[in-house]
Amino acid sequence: MKSFDIVVVGAGIVGCAVARELSRAGMRVGIVEGGAHRGATAAGMGHVVVMDDSPAQLVLTQYSCSLWRKEADHLPVAVEYEGFGTIWIAANDEEMEEVHAKHAIYAQTGVVSAVLNAAELVMAEPNLRKDLAGGLLVPHDAVIYPPAAAEFFLSEAQRLGAALFRSRAVQASHGEVSLEDGTLLQAERIVLATGTECDLLSALPLQKRKGHLAITDRYPGFLCHQLVELGYLKSAHKLVADSVAFNIQPRQTGQLLIGSSRQYGDDDPGVDAAILRQMLERAVSYMPALAGMSVLRVWTGFRAATLDKLPLIGPAAGLSDDTSLWLAAGFEGLGITNALGAARLLLDGLLNRTPEIDAGPYLPARMVNRMEIARA
Ligand SMILES: Cc1cc2nc3c(=O)[nH]c(=O)nc-3n(C[C@H](O)[C@H](O)[C@H](O)COP(=O)(O)OP(=O)(O)OC[C@H]3O[C@@H](n4cnc5c(N)ncnc54)[C@H](O)[C@@H]3O)c2cc1C
Repeated sequence: MKSFDIVVVGAGIVGCAVARELSRAGMRVGIVEGGAHRGATAAGMGHVVVMDDSPAQLVLTQYSCSLWRKEADHLPVAVEYEGFGTIWIAANDEEMEEVHAKHAIYAQTGVVSAVLNAAELVMAEPNLRKDLAGGLLVPHDAVIYPPAAAEFFLSEAQRLGAALFRSRAVQASHGEVSLEDGTLLQAERIVLATGTECDLLSALPLQKRKGHLAITDRYPGFLCHQLVELGYLKSAHKLVADSVAFNIQPRQTGQLLIGSSRQYGDDDPGVDAAILRQMLERAVSYMPALAGMSVLRVWTGFRAATLDKLPLIGPAAGLSDDTSLWLAAGFEGLGITNALGAARLLLDGLLNRTPEIDAGPYLPARMVNRMEIARA
């Protein structure tokens, strides 16, 4: 039996960031990873973005983005951190009103942004179609390569003494984690950072939300910012319907990463030709020159969605009476962005320390009432 202060189950970007944060604080950390690939982290787009679907989402993404910026200069080249900035695209006057509303919210909360009129948008991104109304530039948003970031956090945690176990956890409760290979780990606390997988705590209120991404050949200079249509927010809000939205990311290699789709109720990891077609047609409708480009690879991944679209960070109270269980899960489409903020909140919670932002909106216990309401 091996003994730790904390065992983190799951070495996606969230588990790795948590393991590093706890190791930095001097805790004895064990990390368990049972998959051949890193779940959603290997499939994600890598946009590090301030999002304002809800005030709590805005606070956490703003906090997390600031943590990414603080360590940007110390990240290895492989993480490909680039402060490309985001432009939220308004297709018409109605969406332009949303641009102004978003700008006002950002200004109130200290997020730097600038409204672009139609001519300024064309100057910023000449390959967009020319009849768009304008946009909102958020210059401090960034782009990273998520698997490399997870690998870096993991190696930092290991350098600080954390032990990695490459086997699947088959049981985790009351301070004990049993691995498929027969190893037994003991810890005061167990953090479940298992992405979409709920085998270790079936009460986890998570739904899988499938997404498709496509990557093109190299077209250096074609795109300067992450571009997202404002309709993306509406599509990300929808709780049941399938949707696609224009979302394109420049990579350091000159490649273009094109997204994105959102689907519930499709557990098949295979590419859905119909939704892929819709997604690519949507992209071409915003950037017509994409039609002549080569797509090199298409893949899918699953986001772990909660009912209120906020992550579960903290003790599993309410979902389990096992006081050793903590959660870092349910990050949906923002786990890359929020990994650093989540790691800080978790550490503060474990040390019973006042966090820099209010941890209340992300505590798992909130789900109990919501699940009852959803069932009613
Ligand atoms: C198409 C798509 C685009 C996205 N784009 C973005 C984006 O631009 N920006 C952003 O911020 N987020 C984005 N996301 C979301 C982001 O990828 C996820 O929120 C994030 O990767 C979740 O990280 P995680 O560590 O919680 O889970 P995961 O990356 O899924 O990691 C969980 C890990 O736990 C392991 N595991 C599970 N159960 C066990 C067990 N019993 N024993 C041992 N190991 C176990 C798994 O093998 C896996 O490695 C996107 C997601 C998708 C699908």
